[in-house]
Amino acid sequence: MQQSIRYLLDQNMLTADLEQYTIQEGKVEHGIYLSSLQRKGAALFCLCRDEERRVKYVLMLSASADAFPTFPGQRMREGEFMVATSDLTPKLAVFLRKEFPYTAPQSLRDKNATFGTGDRLGNANPAHVRAVRSFNIFPVLAQQSIRELNFTRRTFQDVVDAATFAVFQEGYTGGYGADGDHLKNIPEIKKSLESGATMITLDLSEVMNATAANWSAAQILQSYQQFPKNEVVRLEKTYLNSTFTLQNGLALTFSTLELQRCCVMYSKALRFAKEAYDLLVEVRGAGNFDFEMSIDETETPTLPLHHVFIICELIHHGVKVDSLAPRFIGEFQKGIDYLGDLKEFEAQFQIHSQIAKTYGNYKLSIHSGSDKFSVYPTIGKWTEGHVHVKTAGTSWLEAVRVIAMYEPALYREIHTQALNSYQDALKYYHITADLDKVAPLDKTRDADLPRYLEQPDSRQLLHISYGYVMGDKALRARLYDALFVHEDAYLQRIRDHIRKHVRLLGCQER
Ligand SMILES: [Zn+2]
Repeated sequence: MQQSIRYLLDQNMLTADLEQYTIQEGKVEHGIYLSSLQRKGAALFCLCRDEERRVKYVLMLSASADAFPTFPGQRMREGEFMVATSDLTPKLAVFLRKEFPYTAPQSLRDKNATFGTGDRLGNANPAHVRAVRSFNIFPVLAQQSIRELNFTRRTFQDVVDAATFAVFQEGYTGGYGADGDHLKNIPEIKKSLESGATMITLDLSEVMNATAANWSAAQILQSYQQFPKNEVVRLEKTYLNSTFTLQNGLALTFSTLELQRCCVMYSKALRFAKEAYDLLVEVRGAGNFDFEMSIDETETPTLPLHHVFIICELIHHGVKVDSLAPRFIGEFQKGIDYLGDLKEFEAQFQIHSQIAKTYGNYKLSIHSGSDKFSVYPTIGKWTEGHVHVKTAGTSWLEAVRVIAMYEPALYREIHTQALNSYQDALKYYHITADLDKVAPLDKTRDADLPRYLEQPDSRQLLHISYGYVMGDKALRARLYDALFVHEDAYLQRIRDHIRKHVRLLGCQER
């Protein structure tokens, strides 16, 4: 810390032109992230590294003893100056969001392309910022599902705070969103709102009746007959004998059976969506949150006609969605490229994007977007960049890759933990990895360990195991330590990897 203070004083940072320092991406000088240097009032702030304790902290330097009394942490005299330091605590996050408003999450509204970069470990966001800041794309740096929060032993507040610190570290003033991802019930929504989520992703996959996709006409009818009479009259009047014409002229019509099937599959879920939406309006006020609806985590793809039914019913109930995540045809498995027929994907995707344009110009949301390189150009083309993409685990895999490259012994422990927990992890993630194709660890030389991050089956194995690694206290601590030490390589890898996604989507460099 002393050398950081010395450096700030030697460079006369309290009065120097900061721009020449802050433009240097990722540069650490005497423990200081130069990009973080900020002056406010009579004080200078910056984010620093403590190599000994392997933690980051924020330092405030001022000529006046009473500068920013709300800054948390230790204060001490340094000649004629006052120095204060604080570790990256929740209190510090509150302070930063108040004094530096760009470190607080904000709405995605009016942003064209938006990109969710889940940061499961909470230390990858500086790289996400570096990946997107030179492109016309708006990041959602805080994005975690309840499943991920449970697995990583983190709270949504931790996730938002980590984004605040990352943005401050990078001196990134372009704004970012915070997505309470895959929320399934009212208490989860309330909790996310309290933690400062600007976006709520409501997951309907458990309340919808997905199995009815494959029911016989008789089964459907039996269930449909339970619906209230007046509701049936409204639905049939709305959907039968009507043509739903999309912007490009494509006309869609409902048969009686398909209308009945839609009712049986989605009615209950849509009532729940209305309930959740009303709560959001009550808490935040209409238009003061981003609302996404997701039905992506089901077995069968969302047919375009079903998409029409869902959005028309939402409109009928007064629910305004900003984005919607259908379950697309083919497979969007974690951490690997798209599995399926690209032509068929494009044919259906085009219709989904027409539906979104026709019924309110909301965004299609692409979940499990990590590494789906073969479909990105198609997605960019048909949405014309008006799209939301979510990636979550891919920065975790880059973390594991860095460990494989620089800390082979630790990698071996992580790999072993992944193998031991694989059967359990399968309860939470749908993947089709074949472990017989994963090379035996004891026969793999240290130099070849990074290859596990190339091979699809081992990628998936490592991808879904994060919770079991993070759940092991000792392993977790060593992982964080190692990533602190190798931060340069770690952030560089993630930055390049995310940029590859952004470029393939067709986003323009600023
Ligand atoms: Zn999803």
